[in-house]
Amino acid sequence: MLTLEERGRYDRQIMIKGFGEDGQEKLKRAKVIIAGSGGLGSAASIYLAVAGVGTIRIIDHDRVELSNLNRQILHGDNDIGRKKIDSAAEKLSRLNQGVKVEAIEETINEDNISRLVAGFDLIVDAMDNLPTRYLLNKVAIEKNIPFVHGAVYGLEGRAMTIIPGKTACLRCVYRGLIPQEKFPVIGVTPAVIGCIQATEVIKYIVGIGKLLTNRLLVYDGLNMKFTELAVKKDPNCEHCGH
Ligand SMILES: [Zn+2]
Repeated sequence: MLTLEERGRYDRQIMIKGFGEDGQEKLKRAKVIIAGSGGLGSAASIYLAVAGVGTIRIIDHDRVELSNLNRQILHGDNDIGRKKIDSAAEKLSRLNQGVKVEAIEETINEDNISRLVAGFDLIVDAMDNLPTRYLLNKVAIEKNIPFVHGAVYGLEGRAMTIIPGKTACLRCVYRGLIPQEKFPVIGVTPAVIGCIQATEVIKYIVGIGKLLTNRLLVYDGLNMKFTELAVKKDPNCEHCGH
């Protein structure tokens, strides 16, 4: 049941067709992991918090640096040098005290990933490197947890939703390793992609609309174009194949 305060806070989204108080209660019960509290993680977590997702677990091992501030809107000037998860938890709680924020200071790796995602309903890929994305994709499939991929570069971004056992996964689409590097990016790009990821999370939990599955959405901010690439589940995929 929603409280009177929750009915008031979420009044305008409860009005959305197919959403209703049922949808809001589903959000309240939902547990979502945001892997990374950088540009994508900032946008996704802020909008999931204000939408009323009950539990948000945000994972990051970094501290806030000056060069983060052009895009990582969870953090500001006064946070430089702080742990990102502390800064993130503080901002998200300030936006919505009704959300339980679990701030986890760990580097996601093969040893801890299963423990970190256990019991959660959905994983948001807000990482900045391909090896960790693959790891998240793999564990999402193994644990049967839907996974919302997002990536940015400069003024370009990509997003895709993966439903384990049903749709193409990240590994079906990308092969090989892109070396880790410092890459160009401006805040508006992860804002767009992070909000698309948050939209997918909300739709999945509430059970409305059509998910971004078997389609890779490519955003080109320079030319302001959204393109969709149809993708197929690869039966020989090393993550989701048999
Ligand atoms: Zn696959």
